[in-house]
Amino acid sequence: MRLRDRFEPLLQQRKQAELFRRVPLVTSPIGTRIQLNGKTLVNFAANDYLGLSEDPDIRRQVCAADDATFGSGAAHLISGHHLHHHLLEDELSDWLGVERVLLFSTGYMANMAVQQALMQRGDTLIHDKLNHASLLDGARLSEAELKRYPHRNMAMLEKRLRAAEGQAMIVTDGVFSMDGDMAPLPDILELKEKHDAWLLVDEAHAFGVLGEHGRGSFEHFGLQADDDTLRVGTLGKAFGVFGAFVAGSQIAIDALINLARPWIYTTALPPANALAARIALKKVQQADAARAHLRALIQHFRAEAESLGLTLWESETPIQPLILGDAATAVAWSRALFEQGFHVPAIRPPTVPKGSARLRITFSACHTLEDVARLLEALAALYPCKS
Ligand code: PMP
Repeated sequence: MRLRDRFEPLLQQRKQAELFRRVPLVTSPIGTRIQLNGKTLVNFAANDYLGLSEDPDIRRQVCAADDATFGSGAAHLISGHHLHHHLLEDELSDWLGVERVLLFSTGYMANMAVQQALMQRGDTLIHDKLNHASLLDGARLSEAELKRYPHRNMAMLEKRLRAAEGQAMIVTDGVFSMDGDMAPLPDILELKEKHDAWLLVDEAHAFGVLGEHGRGSFEHFGLQADDDTLRVGTLGKAFGVFGAFVAGSQIAIDALINLARPWIYTTALPPANALAARIALKKVQQADAARAHLRALIQHFRAEAESLGLTLWESETPIQPLILGDAATAVAWSRALFEQGFHVPAIRPPTVPKGSARLRITFSACHTLEDVARLLEALAALYPCKS
């Protein structure tokens, strides 16, 4: 069979159902204001929650540093582990109050690594059904059995824990990437204790944002992570740079160093990225005012959107989805917003469940109240066409 014969009908079908994926090209520096397809837009699509990707200090300091090379030349275990990696790991572990942090190139790889390295054949991974795709792929790479529970349903989580074979690991997003709601961590921790399970929390959308000082979901709920809990963070969202990490106990990280294939068999993150993340971490630590502004934007958006009659999701985070149902409506709304000067992408199946295509609006501390007011105006003009 020719490759074309397999994929042409499938892609054609996707085009007809408004499910074909295209890559939007940004021709300006990426930030809160972007040039896309020749138009200047306010960007309500990024995960750059504190606006740090636009921070000129980070760029300046990295460019001025003689030891910040853009290639590490090898994996961490060979000769790629530079002082900037080492210092970043230490600084992140001090910040989070954990024994150890291990750097990865992406959150995707970190999520692949933890489940593959720590869970064995005969063990059970128990996932929230709306977990990020990389967590699901991590479960597939592991030899443990995968079980899932309906989104945030603690009774079903407990049922899965009771039936689990071998060691159980509960796996959940801290903040769900397409819905913006949070995992009910206090209840999850109680069940974890009761059933002697381990826990993996993906804090990609929580670190830097949630909690008084941006230390994520655990800080938000006033909880401590114990030795059987691992947290994954990415540096590509609130940190505004690139890379990722796993935070946990010394023994958990030693196990990853020795067993995690997505960490062992890949080139280390460039030292320049590690330095950029060290500078970004200092800024995240000093971002209380930015977090307060972000919270104010979210509250304003929610209050006004509700008064317009828009149906909002139960989310206190910078991810505010507007669920529209079918893909064609979501695409039409996204296009109309583009015409009004906003980039708000339509998120469609299979990224989200069928019938729940949506606009995923995300806020950054670099947005102004006026940006949000203008977006609300544009949404209000669209609302009557929701059928
Ligand atoms: N986890 C979640 C919840 C995410 O949303 C993402 C990014 N979309 C990742 C992990 C992957 O992180 P990275 O972009 O660093 O690979």
